[in-house]
Amino acid sequence: KQAYPMGCQLSKRLMVIVNPHGGKGHAIRTYRSEGAPLFKAARCLVDVITTEYAGHARDIGREKVSQGKYDAIVCASGDGIPHEILNGMWDYEDEDGKKRSKRATELLANTAICQLPCGSGNALAKSLNGTASPSESALAIIKGYRLKSDLMVVSQKTKGSYLTFLTQTHGLIAESDLGTEHLRWMGGARFSFGVVQRLLFSKTYPCRLDVKYQASSKSEVRRHFAQYMDNIENNTTPAEKFTPRFGTVEDELPSDWTSHNLPNASMIYVSKLPWVSTENQFFPAALPHDGAMDLCYSNTMSPFHSIPIMVATETGAHLDSPGIEYAKIEAYRLTPAEEDGHGYLSMDGESYPFEPFQVEVWPRAATFLSK
Ligand code: ADP
Ligand code: MG
Repeated sequence: KQAYPMGCQLSKRLMVIVNPHGGKGHAIRTYRSEGAPLFKAARCLVDVITTEYAGHARDIGREKVSQGKYDAIVCASGDGIPHEILNGMWDYEDEDGKKRSKRATELLANTAICQLPCGSGNALAKSLNGTASPSESALAIIKGYRLKSDLMVVSQKTKGSYLTFLTQTHGLIAESDLGTEHLRWMGGARFSFGVVQRLLFSKTYPCRLDVKYQASSKSEVRRHFAQYMDNIENNTTPAEKFTPRFGTVEDELPSDWTSHNLPNASMIYVSKLPWVSTENQFFPAALPHDGAMDLCYSNTMSPFHSIPIMVATETGAHLDSPGIEYAKIEAYRLTPAEEDGHGYLSMDGESYPFEPFQVEVWPRAATFLSK
């Protein structure tokens, strides 16, 4: 791996953003006892901000990170704060009032994002450092290397375009996450509880899925994975300013996409990282900058079929289950069925309007710290 370019590894300039609302609500205490002492011992220069409202980290990303003062932004939170910070940086306005400028691209590419796990999911820390322990993650941040990662750009009619670094999901998983907010006291267990609850009712989430494939079968995915594994550390080509290759969700579908009607869908799940929470390695073939997103979906729903799948996600063995499709894709559009009425769409674990959306990969647009 490339050495950390700031020279002395022990004096990173960090902005720590603490979300007191994340997970079970212990982030301030966790940061004080497990993060701060280690950063101090490693002579990091640290500025700490505690978020005061939902969306605060987005404002911080737009207004404070742009000064270029920090080597890394440490999110003492779940995955919602990295989501907000990335979007804040992308919303940065240059002197002419222009958004999404070259400067915003540079900010995203140069400011490393990392996580001191304090949330319910903590997929970023688990995927990049193999741990969701706050103290082990603090050490990984102190010693971490810069790793380029693709981002995913979402287009929605009422929201315009925005970034996700982790997942988009519709159906069972989205409901189990966003529909269990009232169970925050359970910590990460609220996801599993939500999944089991919904499986018992065999609820389906009919939708249409249009996909631009890169590797459409499991054997092609294996080949893709083997090929790109060798290239992970070498490809540090800088990101280019984002220009949509496939238009927006309101444009006509490109003719070379494949359409799936999914009347019995249980879940549509797309990710850029292998671990979607501390216990669930839903996307074992996900790679940081292979120019693709990993798609996992199922058009069947029954407890007998789905419970063994959910149990197997810790090891990734669920991919061998019949009825589970897995692919590498460049872009897709998801259109919930009209009759589905109200539902949930989860983007990096955050709730977004329940309406059609389209997503495409933005290669190597962000930098994370990795062990
Ligand atoms: P979790 O893993 O538990 O979901 P996250 O860090 O992802 O934790 O954050 C969850 C939500 O908390 C995000 O939507 C974020 O906007 C919101 N949030 C951040 N700060 C506050 C605050 N001070 N009060 C209420 N909500 C907040
Ligand atoms: Mg979250």
